[in-house]
Amino acid sequence: MRSTIVLPPDITIETLVEELKKYCRKTDIEMIRLAYDFAADAHKGQVRYNGEPYITHPLAAAYILALMRIDINIIVAALLHDVPEDTQVTLEEIEKNFGKDVAQMVKGITKLGKIKYRGVERYLENLRKMFIAMAEDIRVMIIKFADRIHNLLTLDAQPPNKQYRIAMESLEIYAPIANRLSMGEFKGLLEDLSFPYVYPKEYEKVKALRDNVIAEEGPYLDKIMEATKTEMKNSGIKVLDIHGRKKKLYSLYQKLIQKNWDASQIHDIVALRIVVPDVGDCYAALGIIHQLWRPLKGRIKDFISQPKPNGYKSLHTTVFCDDGNIVEFQIRTPEMHDEAEYGVAAHWHYDEKKGGAKKDRKDISWAKELAKIQQEVLNNLSDLESMKIDFFQNRIFVFTPNGDVIDLPENATAVDFAYHIHTDIGNKCNGVKINEQMVSLDTPLKSGDVVEVLVDKNRKGPSPDWLKFVKTHVAKSRIKQSLNAKKQSWLKAIFPLPIKK
Ligand code: MN
Repeated sequence: MRSTIVLPPDITIETLVEELKKYCRKTDIEMIRLAYDFAADAHKGQVRYNGEPYITHPLAAAYILALMRIDINIIVAALLHDVPEDTQVTLEEIEKNFGKDVAQMVKGITKLGKIKYRGVERYLENLRKMFIAMAEDIRVMIIKFADRIHNLLTLDAQPPNKQYRIAMESLEIYAPIANRLSMGEFKGLLEDLSFPYVYPKEYEKVKALRDNVIAEEGPYLDKIMEATKTEMKNSGIKVLDIHGRKKKLYSLYQKLIQKNWDASQIHDIVALRIVVPDVGDCYAALGIIHQLWRPLKGRIKDFISQPKPNGYKSLHTTVFCDDGNIVEFQIRTPEMHDEAEYGVAAHWHYDEKKGGAKKDRKDISWAKELAKIQQEVLNNLSDLESMKIDFFQNRIFVFTPNGDVIDLPENATAVDFAYHIHTDIGNKCNGVKINEQMVSLDTPLKSGDVVEVLVDKNRKGPSPDWLKFVKTHVAKSRIKQSLNAKKQSWLKAIFPLPIKK
């Protein structure tokens, strides 16, 4: 488990190396020193807005990633990320010195560098570029987030109009993407660092409110924490970590708006987080907490058996403690914690045992999904609006009868599911069983459903009625395609002459 991202003042190459030594090999560190020298040389004489030498910026971006124990090539690319755009040194030279993989990432970031948020009309265009960059290489986004976080940390030195633009862009574009990639730590930082520049008054108000709650509840929560620790120990459950976690300010702001600024309705401004070794311990810990304190009805949430749309897993429960105080507990394993904080970036965590990145990069199914969406966008730019909706809608996870997981937007139906598997299955789908019950094709699916599509080989094609209830871009466009093809052949049968367009 890694701790939250906090930057020390005056990061140097030695600070970075110290952090890298915790998980890297000697040869990796030599490579980092080479990249640092290369970048420092290229940026020589350049200063940032705040008067510091330019190299402090790529160094900080690399440091943020090192705190996440991320794969070494990504850190090399982070050190070099502004070289082609801001100096005389070319991508070819980077490739010659650091190889194709690093050069590819730097190229991706350089392309993204040209994206500027200019109000609503440019929004979709920006998104499009972002999607393309992501689909090509998701690591580019990980570096871009670290780059942006450091820019936000040093935003004070920028002129006000630029401050607003950069903060707004982070809030509207970067943070939702980080969320979608389940990178909770980055999402939280992007939002909370931008918040004061975009909504200064609201920021002050929310911060004062949270400070107040912390001051009031802090001592009490310490007591509850001690009681919990003791009880877990007595029951033989190993607690790896227990701490109070403050709700992030921007996310609290959004919840306050939802609840008409009635803070008494929000029970997780400070929550207690417990980390235990495995899933069995999570449920055992939940049981112990419920024996100690009475749970609030309807507030026990099992995100382990039913993960949130972005993949978030934990057990949540809200209980009445002594004196009627209400406390939220969040219980998870170290793996769940890493996935929640670092999301897709966890796939590039360095694994000491294997001496390389931890997981098979190919098993990230959303990346494939993204590539699919991208292809369609390129084919049909006018559909950007619906693509945006697909991506940002909340997601559900349903199963095929073989147990494969399919990721769909909320309220998607069996027809969406069928097209998602294959166009022919969509076109020929004739009925559906959800959890072994026959139901109508327009029934909305829920996370955890097992969906079996019944196919009629003789079916001529989709029904136009389906367009009224399908939710995904893929289903809509395939149905329209098939209906158009049918219309064309029907017209041809009646008018056997060439049809003018
Ligand atoms: Mn940069």
